Amino acid sequence: MAVKHLIAAALGAALVSACTESGDTAAASSHRAGEKSPAASITLPPQQRDSAWFAQAQRDLGAASEVVIDNRPGAAKNIILFVGDGMGISTVTAARILAGQQQGMSGEEYQLSFEKMPFAGLIKTYNTNQQTPDSAGTATAIMSGVKTKAGVLNVAEDVPRGDCLASRQRPLVTVLELAESRGKSTGVVSTARLTHATPASTYAKVPERGWESDDALPADAKENGCVDIAAQMVALEAGNGIDVAMGGGRRHFLPVSVTDLEGQPGRRQDGRNLVQEWQQRYRAGGASAVYIEDQAGFEGVDIAATDKLLGLFESSHMRYEEDRGNDVAGEPSLSAMTATALKLLEKNSDGYFLLVESGRIDHGHHAGSAYSALTDAVEFARAVQVAMDGTSAEDTLIIVTADHSHVLTIAGYPTRGNPILGKVVTNDSHGEPEPAPATAKDGMPFTTLSYATGRGFADLGDETDADVRYELPAAAGRHDLSEIDTTAPGFHQEALVPLAGETHAGEDVGIWARGPGAHLLGGTNEQSYIFHVMARSGALLPH
Ligand SMILES: [Zn+2]
Repeated sequence: MAVKHLIAAALGAALVSACTESGDTAAASSHRAGEKSPAASITLPPQQRDSAWFAQAQRDLGAASEVVIDNRPGAAKNIILFVGDGMGISTVTAARILAGQQQGMSGEEYQLSFEKMPFAGLIKTYNTNQQTPDSAGTATAIMSGVKTKAGVLNVAEDVPRGDCLASRQRPLVTVLELAESRGKSTGVVSTARLTHATPASTYAKVPERGWESDDALPADAKENGCVDIAAQMVALEAGNGIDVAMGGGRRHFLPVSVTDLEGQPGRRQDGRNLVQEWQQRYRAGGASAVYIEDQAGFEGVDIAATDKLLGLFESSHMRYEEDRGNDVAGEPSLSAMTATALKLLEKNSDGYFLLVESGRIDHGHHAGSAYSALTDAVEFARAVQVAMDGTSAEDTLIIVTADHSHVLTIAGYPTRGNPILGKVVTNDSHGEPEPAPATAKDGMPFTTLSYATGRGFADLGDETDADVRYELPAAAGRHDLSEIDTTAPGFHQEALVPLAGETHAGEDVGIWARGPGAHLLGGTNEQSYIFHVMARSGALLPH
């Protein structure tokens, strides 16, 4: 049975013993030199006791004391794993401030949905051969419980990248496959291509993350029997395969001879149409297998009449959230996809496993656009809210984390409430905001947010597609921002070291959790530990 909050019990006991001790001390009367003064003689002044911070902390303490710790293996009927790709700590802080400021608040005090969860910890993200990781190795750690080299998906750490034969001998089983084998429903939702590293890590076993369709496989890999990622997805054997899959990546499922509804050609050279193969596989078994590829199709999904759902909304990655209005055929938001996935998965009384990835926080950062990364992170938090509102902490474990960080910094001494995307305005000697932005030693203003690496500064005005930055040359270092609106969608932050793109960062990422087993994620843990918490809480491991 659920154990009522152990921490609360321990805290209560500590308070009782403290009172007893102080009482004893007071009873012992005489206050000799070297002894502590009786605690009862100290009273908190009204400016402390009546402070809003004091009251808020007391409320938060009360709420924390009511949290239920459920330590029973298998208590999590449902598991929802949210991965903000590249959502490091500085991204979470900046996204929190942006979300608050969008609602008219100062921003710093705001809480993103998952920051209200009762448990949090830190995760070490390195790959077995890289200090700062890539998304394939990190996703493998999360999904299989084993760390591996960078660039590989669900193969053991001794498999060299790109080695087909070794990979076929040393595959790893994923948490999604285990959930399927337990009769649970499974889902994968991402704004990236469904064949991209994080979503692919739920089902694919390849020694090279780039093998998204057959055109990318070298001849010897084909000869040695390796299969591309998209083909592995539609053929997944565990249970009855993935039940709900929505994201981008249409091109990897369609042959070169087919042009999609947005005018983009397929990439497959083997002539296979994997969308048709997927539908045939399930329809042959009598299931209702529905394929959708635009906003209208998404809105038309009949939950009750759909057993399997495949949504491919873009040839490559889906749009950045702020750029979604420019999509040719229309596509749903991450939070809308999350809501639909949950409705479909909830139909299984044995529960489900769902991965929801915000794939493009990472891409916004790589392009040097904090605006894109942060607005996608805010939408990611909305998707988490959908899951928090639509499930119960009694039977559903929700985990929110990032696969790795990015080199975004929050710098200078901006005054409270300064626009997070703005130039730094400091306080004067009385603690009041200066009338104009501060200038650096080079005489020019600077922004709160900047990157250590990347293509650097660009002013693209109201452009909402951050990837346009790649069409311009790298421009690292300092630029005069005096006349530039750094809060505009098209502004790209300055970067110190010029590189083809901004890079991942190697520090730990956060992890937040609610539900059965959530308390196990406290502390600082290896990324591979996440799988084991999911497997234990969901009783997924074979006996
Ligand atoms: Zn990345």
